[in-house]
Amino acid sequence: MDYLYWTTDIPGIPQHATCDYLNSNQDGDPATDVAWAQFSDPVYGSAVCAVRTASDSSVCDQRLVSLNVTNIQNVNHWQHQMMKTTCHELGHTVGLDHYYPQAPIPDFPPGGVLDCMASQSVDDYDEPTGSWTYTYNSHHIAHINAWW
Ligand SMILES: [Zn+2]
Repeated sequence: MDYLYWTTDIPGIPQHATCDYLNSNQDGDPATDVAWAQFSDPVYGSAVCAVRTASDSSVCDQRLVSLNVTNIQNVNHWQHQMMKTTCHELGHTVGLDHYYPQAPIPDFPPGGVLDCMASQSVDDYDEPTGSWTYTYNSHHIAHINAWW
């Protein structure tokens, strides 16, 4: 498998598995943390909260991540857009927020280094195929390590 949206060829592993959407606190069973799907909204991807944590409704327990493969493939550097969108939405599932370096009043990347949590098309950036499209900067990595 070269791209996440391709069908897996690992023997015995189905492409789609049943998701356990019941909160872990309700039945004691481990539940699905992230489910991936394709959709057709006018964006590249989204990571909506599907189930909130029973003990704290301000915390998301399970997310549904969706990728719009058609929109992604319309970008000049679509392979890097696929990597960036996947990295970006996965970042949301672990609690990272996005920022807008290309906005009229631009956000600066937290920690000062561009990474996949930047919003918009990779074609809007000086290095659309740079490693920033599939990595988190040290500021975000520090948050992930502290939270998980
Ligand atoms: Zn985002």
